[in-house]
Amino acid sequence: MKYISTRGGIEPVNFKDAVMMGLASDGGLLLPESIPSVADDLNNLSKLSYSDLAYEIIKLYATDIPEDKLRAIINSSYSTFRDSEVTPVKSIDGLHILELFHGPTLAFKDVALQFLGNLFEMILEEQGGELNIVGATSGDTGSAAIHGVRGKDRIKIFIMHPNNRVSFVQKQQMTSVLDDNVFNLAVEGTFDDCQAILKEIFADVDFKLDNSLGAINSINWARVLAQVVYYFFAYFRVCETTGKEVSFTVPTGNFGDIFAGWIAVSMGLPVKNLILASNENDILSRFFNTGEYRTGDVCFTHSPSMDIQVASNFERYLYYLVGQDSAKVTSLMNEFSVTGLICIDKECMDAAGNLFKAGSGTNEKTLETIKNFYEGTGYLLDPHTAVGVYVARQFDDGETPMICLSTAHPAKFPEAIIEATSKDIAKHDEIEKIMDFPIDYTVVANDTMVVKNFVKKHL
Ligand SMILES: *Cc1c(COP(=O)(O)O)cnc(C)c1O
Repeated sequence: MKYISTRGGIEPVNFKDAVMMGLASDGGLLLPESIPSVADDLNNLSKLSYSDLAYEIIKLYATDIPEDKLRAIINSSYSTFRDSEVTPVKSIDGLHILELFHGPTLAFKDVALQFLGNLFEMILEEQGGELNIVGATSGDTGSAAIHGVRGKDRIKIFIMHPNNRVSFVQKQQMTSVLDDNVFNLAVEGTFDDCQAILKEIFADVDFKLDNSLGAINSINWARVLAQVVYYFFAYFRVCETTGKEVSFTVPTGNFGDIFAGWIAVSMGLPVKNLILASNENDILSRFFNTGEYRTGDVCFTHSPSMDIQVASNFERYLYYLVGQDSAKVTSLMNEFSVTGLICIDKECMDAAGNLFKAGSGTNEKTLETIKNFYEGTGYLLDPHTAVGVYVARQFDDGETPMICLSTAHPAKFPEAIIEATSKDIAKHDEIEKIMDFPIDYTVVANDTMVVKNFVKKHL
């Protein structure tokens, strides 16, 4: 399988190169040249364990990795999960909750980042060389990325977070990892400042090449790919026989997770609707309802991992929406960088069919949903999952099984749970355990040169 750029400016590359490249060198995102179908194979796939299913799906895209190596990294990636099913499905109150939070940092990002960390390590062992990952986080991504590569040879990771602006739990999760290859930088600024520094570092092509810098954000194709697996896994848990349709609701920020669902559908998974749920940052739900993709100011909500106004994976969907026309994608994205607006005409939106539905939930609805669900069922939703459940109810036809992706454990967001229920009940052993672990991080000025010098000094 070869990979191309949404902007058409690179020669096709193989899977390993696509993983190491992250963002395509023409500024576009990498996609497989074609999407393989497993429509005729669903019955066989339905009986597999999570890891065996992951192998069958991922091998179709990672054709340049030998079978034994691919199996080994998949098995070790999912052996770190606390549930024997990896991503179990719980049926509660007429909904099917797909629990994606049983990995090391209790958020769904572990599903992809455990795999990506092992994949990087395997490729570096094969090809030689080193990788120095530099990233910025508002909380969740950083800790999942750090746990994905901690203790690995040939890899160092530098994660910037805004000093004093991440939650206590998030800070403990990131900074209590004391392995020699992990560097936490608390930038004296906001998350936007961290991202601006990251952009400037990656824009310096010489610095990037001289220091073998790599990125770990959700534009990496391997992250999307790893997430395709659990759409199939959940389908098989909910449908006794294959062929029947289900719907999925996905709490969305960067459009990575729900795009993985779109890939699963394109591979032949029988899905009636993919329902996109956003919080008050509703650029994506407005897009699916109007055809207008227009950015605004970020507002801060109880579901911080969805506080995003420019969804980095949206360009992948756009590419298919405009008929795989990379010249068109390039001009739309250029236009967007100037005007902050992309308009897709009605004809084109209609041609895509009604697979996608979209809605949004306010902070108030998020808290109300947590409270009502808890009081009605005894099951505690995290604030991101609650946005999904709120939106799912609006599209539930009472017939099609509705699978809601649960993207984090509530114990990651105890403040919101207390506000919703007036009870301090969001607990998890793993979080209790790290609460008084020693931590290590370096406070740095909000200055790109300072961060660059720090990275250089520690290579
Ligand atoms: C990252 C994240 C999301 C959003 O996922 P995207 O792939 O960015 O759409 C939702 N919930 C949680 C808990 C997250 O960490």
